[in-house]
Amino acid sequence: MPPIINPEFCSCCGLCAERCSEDVFFGSSKKEIPVVTYPEECWHCNSCIRACPTEGAIRLRIPLPMMVCYK
Ligand code: SF4
Ligand code: SF4
Repeated sequence: MPPIINPEFCSCCGLCAERCSEDVFFGSSKKEIPVVTYPEECWHCNSCIRACPTEGAIRLRIPLPMMVCYK
């Protein structure tokens, strides 16, 4: 399941989109809230979450079977 961005907290820095190695945020522009264009490409690597400098701006919905990996 793809990342969810909270527009209230997002500073539009674009770091999450830059860090993603897939096309999840394809077409997103800097200084705008990133768009989750291809959610099915997300493999839950957590890189976008780690890149985000703003607490609460982005979070991942981890599928239940994968939660074991995040313990
Ligand atoms: S978790 Fe990984 S693959 Fe998914 S959107 Fe974030 S950086 Fe991209
Ligand atoms: S890294 Fe965080 S603050 Fe920056 S654009 Fe992505 S969600 Fe918004």
